[in-house]
Amino acid sequence: MVDVPTRWYNIVADLPVPLPPLIDPLGFDEDSRIQLLVRILPSRLIDEEYTLSRYLEIPEEVRAAYRKVGRPTPLIRAEGLEKAIGVYGRVRIYYKFEGALPTGSHKINTAIPQVYYAKLDGAREVATETGAGQWGLAVATAAAILGMKATIFMTRSSYHSKRQRRLLMQLLGATVHPSPSTVTEAGRRALKENPDHPGSLGLAITEAVEYVLSGEARRYVAGSVLESVLTHQTVIGMEVLQQLPEEPDYMVACVGGGSNMGGFTYPALGMKLRGEGFEKTRFVAAEAAAVPRLSKGEYRYDGLDTGLVLPLAKMYTLGKDYVPPPIHAAGLRYHGAAPSLSLLRKLGYIEARAYPQEDVYEAGRLFARSEGIIPAPESTHAIKAVIDIAKKAPRDTVIAFNLSGNGLLDTDAFEKIESRIVSGRLPEPD
Ligand SMILES: *Cc1c(COP(=O)(O)O)cnc(C)c1O
Repeated sequence: MVDVPTRWYNIVADLPVPLPPLIDPLGFDEDSRIQLLVRILPSRLIDEEYTLSRYLEIPEEVRAAYRKVGRPTPLIRAEGLEKAIGVYGRVRIYYKFEGALPTGSHKINTAIPQVYYAKLDGAREVATETGAGQWGLAVATAAAILGMKATIFMTRSSYHSKRQRRLLMQLLGATVHPSPSTVTEAGRRALKENPDHPGSLGLAITEAVEYVLSGEARRYVAGSVLESVLTHQTVIGMEVLQQLPEEPDYMVACVGGGSNMGGFTYPALGMKLRGEGFEKTRFVAAEAAAVPRLSKGEYRYDGLDTGLVLPLAKMYTLGKDYVPPPIHAAGLRYHGAAPSLSLLRKLGYIEARAYPQEDVYEAGRLFARSEGIIPAPESTHAIKAVIDIAKKAPRDTVIAFNLSGNGLLDTDAFEKIESRIVSGRLPEPD
């Protein structure tokens, strides 16, 4: 029987070259962004962000909450998909199903420890931003489990279009503000300039940070990109090491900020780096053709957020001001990717492939009809990569991928793509 792992894995300990650190913007004359992070994040998260320890003990309270939400998640053989694409008997495909969690995605894996660490600091409330709402829902759930208050700044367009996720957050006891909101200076300023402002993730981050700084006993929590967040997500890959019946030739995941890919692959990739296994395994990142930061971006220092509220990170980026087209896999729209993932891509340990929306939609539909699971729009990118690899693969190839979420609350996105495919119209913005 697989149990919830006792430790997370920190790949920074095994990188072949040192990880370029977060830095302040050059010539910056205001408060240091690094110091700001230290003030707003839970203190134990800051410790984890900078640690060089290879393994981090998962606190017993966090393990208990992981069990409560349904960890370990299953690793499933995709025989239905193998048959549907005609590779059954030749290629074996496995998927780790993070969509089995009640919040519908892997994001709860880091929401739980971050909310717990905020509580250890004596905070009573956590605040954050959310776009489509997967992260906000994870934070609202973790706060409900751990007896904390949650305040979520949700981009205004999603506040209205992703009504179901917003209502779920509210049912769980979270306060959800459409961003720009009237509760922060930054929000009021944006509304004054444009009363119909649709909101942006960058602005929502600015609002959440201002909200945390302007009150007592509040902490900011972060959904992806930070090394500590990727470390928490390795709970996925530590379980996979116990569950895999054979060493895969490929491990595949979709990439937004990089947390589900890092979480799923790092424990295995770390063994490869240390020469302890997974020598032949190739690690493949699947991204949206509309946001191809790993395939076509530059590797350089860039802002973690549009507003430069947060520090700069060395990463593959399309530029912090890049405005991606309104694709439905909203979780893949981030302009950069986590520093460790970017470095591993630079060093050639991770390959990247980018796919257009219509192709991944077809892959998702095929998966639903052959496996009986509606995948999240983000996860369909991984499915598309897997199908492509499997169809060309030699006999006895083994592929494992991370199904980062289910798409049960994304039916509006599927509907929009479907109508576009039928009518040839462009999709509407979220
Ligand atoms: C947020 C999200 C992603 C993208 O974020 P990563 O940090 O790259 O994992 C992918 N899949 C789902 C289901 C998500 O909710």
